[in-house]
Amino acid sequence: QKTSPAQAEFYQAVEEVLDSLQPILETNEKYKLHSIIERMVEPERQIMFRVPWVDDQGKVQVNKGYRIEFNSALGPYKGGLRFHPSVNAGIIKFLGFEQIFKNALTGLPIGGGKGGANFDPKGKSDGEIMRFCQSFINELYRHIGPTTDVPAGDIGVGAREIGYMFGQYKRLTGHYDGVFTGKSLLWGGSLVRKEATGYGCVYFAQYMLADKGDTLAGKQCLVSGAGNVAIYTIEKLYELGARPVTCSDSSGTLYHEAGIDLATLKELKEVRKVRLSEYLTAHPDARFIPVNDYPADGHAVWRIPAQLAFPCATQNELTEADAQALVANGVIAVSEGANMPSTQEAVEVFLDAKICYGPGKAANAGGVATSQLEMAQNASMQRWSFEEVDEKLKVIMKNIYLSASTTAAEFGEPHNLVLGANIAGFRKVADAMIEQGVV
Ligand code: NDP
Repeated sequence: QKTSPAQAEFYQAVEEVLDSLQPILETNEKYKLHSIIERMVEPERQIMFRVPWVDDQGKVQVNKGYRIEFNSALGPYKGGLRFHPSVNAGIIKFLGFEQIFKNALTGLPIGGGKGGANFDPKGKSDGEIMRFCQSFINELYRHIGPTTDVPAGDIGVGAREIGYMFGQYKRLTGHYDGVFTGKSLLWGGSLVRKEATGYGCVYFAQYMLADKGDTLAGKQCLVSGAGNVAIYTIEKLYELGARPVTCSDSSGTLYHEAGIDLATLKELKEVRKVRLSEYLTAHPDARFIPVNDYPADGHAVWRIPAQLAFPCATQNELTEADAQALVANGVIAVSEGANMPSTQEAVEVFLDAKICYGPGKAANAGGVATSQLEMAQNASMQRWSFEEVDEKLKVIMKNIYLSASTTAAEFGEPHNLVLGANIAGFRKVADAMIEQGVV
C-alpha cells in the first residue's frame, strides 16, 4: 500500500521487485504465512538526523542526514552513503531496499542498508567537507560498528570523505576497526575497491555476451557518468579491447569518436574536479552536448549509435525513448553500473527486445562484494594483492550472473535477468528471515 507520494523511487523499486516475485510467491505458501513481503518492505530501523556545520564564512549551515538499516537477515547492514542535494528519505529507502537483494546475490554475509545527506559537496572547500563529515558522524557513530552496520561511499562520497568520517568515528569511540569500507590504501583499504563497481559491471557484460558466444573486443560502448563507477568501467572496457566513446556529468555529455581519453578524464574528475566540457581543451575533435540541448524525452548519451551501453551516473537516467533509440541503433547489451538507472518502461523495452540486460542490483554488485572483501581483510589483519582481489571479484561476478541466469531459466524466462536476480536474492533473504523467527 502506497502511503507517501514523496517516496516515488522507493515505490518504483518495490514494484519492480514484487512484479518479478509473483511466480515464487504464487507457489510458496510459506512466504505468505510468514508475511515476508510485509516485513521486507519495512526497514528494521530508519535514522534521520540534523547535521549542523560551519561554512568558511562562519555561517552555520544545516543539512538532513539519513541511515536506513533495512535488513540484517544475512549479516551486518552494508551499503553506501550518498551526499547529493537530491537526497531525501525516499531515495535512501529505494537504495537501501535494492541493497538487500544485491548483497544477497553476492553470496557474502552482508545485510542491506544505505544512508547519506542532502549536502552538496560541489564548490565546497576541503575544510567545509571535513567539518560536514565530522558533524555527520557526531550522530551516526552511535549506530554503526564493524559487526552491526558498515557504511561505504556512493555519489559524492569517496576516499577523502570516508577518511574524515573514520577519523571522527575513531576520536569519538576510541576504536580502530573496520567500520567503513572504501578506506585509503594507507590505512586499511582494499586494493581493487576503488575500481570494483566499474570493473564488475564490465565483467558482468562479458559473461552475458559469452553466453551468446560473443565478446567485448572491438565493440563501441556508451558510458554515462564521469565519477568513480564510470571511470573504472571505461578503464576495464579498454583493457578488454572495447572502445568507450562517451561519458557525461550533470552539465552534459561528451562524445569522442576516437575513444574517451582515460588519462584526461581522470585528471579532470579525480584531480582537478572540474566540468567535463574542459575535456575539449585537450581534445578539440571531441563533441560536448550541454544538458540544454538534450532531447525533451531523454538523455543525449543514449542517442549515439553503439553496441553496448553502461549507465553509470544515477537513477532514472535512461528513459523509455532512450531505450527505444538504443535498440533501434542495434545495442546488444546493457549492463548497469548505477542503481536503477533505467526507468521501468525502459526495462520493458530491453526485455521485449530480448537483448542482454544486466540490472544494477546484479551488474553493479562488484563494489559491495569487494567492500566485504575489505571487511574480511580488516578482520583477519591481512592484506591481499591486487590480482588476488581482482580474481575473487571475477568469480563473484560470474556467480552472480549464473545465479540470476539459472534462476531465470528455472522460472521459464531464461533471458530475464531482472526476474532471475530478484528471485535469487529474495529466496536467500526470505528463507533466512523465516529461520530466524519473527523478529
Ligand atoms: P560519483 O559521485 O563518483 O559520480 C557520479 C557521476 O554521475 C558524476 O559524473 C555525476 O555528475 C553524475 N550524476 C550524479 N547525479 C546526477 C544527476 N542527477 N544528473 C546527471 N548526472 C549525475 O558516484 P559513483 O560513480 O560512485 O556512483 C554512480 C552510480 O553508481 C550511483 O547510482 C551509485 O549509487 C551507483 N553505485 C556506486 C557504487 C560505488 O562503489 N561507488 C556501488 C554500486 C552502485 P556531477 O559530478 O556533475 O554531479
